Amino acid sequence: MTEEAFECKMCGHCCEGKGGIVMTEKDQKRLAEHLEISVEELIEKYTEHRGGKLHLITKEDNYCFFFKEGCDVHPGRPDVCRAWPYFRGNLIDEISWQMIQEDCAGVNPKAGHAEFVRQGKQYLRDEDLLRYDSDSSPNALISDD
Ligand code: SF4
Ligand code: SF4
Repeated sequence: MTEEAFECKMCGHCCEGKGGIVMTEKDQKRLAEHLEISVEELIEKYTEHRGGKLHLITKEDNYCFFFKEGCDVHPGRPDVCRAWPYFRGNLIDEISWQMIQEDCAGVNPKAGHAEFVRQGKQYLRDEDLLRYDSDSSPNALISDD
């Protein structure tokens, strides 16, 4: 039986930290629709510009503004949240894949890196997460190859 390469354990670790959640235009539209507010209001209230890109803000505890018990905006969450842990670096580099296992309990070491890559690419394709725009996309996402 094929091992599942990843299954989220809802620990919230990946929702902690400043600056990780870059918002593309697609992300802004989807999250604004989910919150039933305008894109302008979303940008004003919940984002900040850093390094030329738009980021979701964090709370004082350093977690994403929308992290409560889990993701409070799950259906409207940005592509970078949808793509984790299948980030470019973790797909092309086995050492990165090994290292993220310390932080992300959802990554299954028993599946092996090759299977992680296979399932990850399939997932990214199915979820339409492979289109990479260097101006607005998070660097972590991979282009289709
Ligand atoms: S760190 Fe991994 S297991 Fe924890 S919430 Fe994030 S994706 Fe899920
Ligand atoms: S939008 Fe949701 S999944 Fe993404 S960092 Fe914030 S709380 Fe976590």
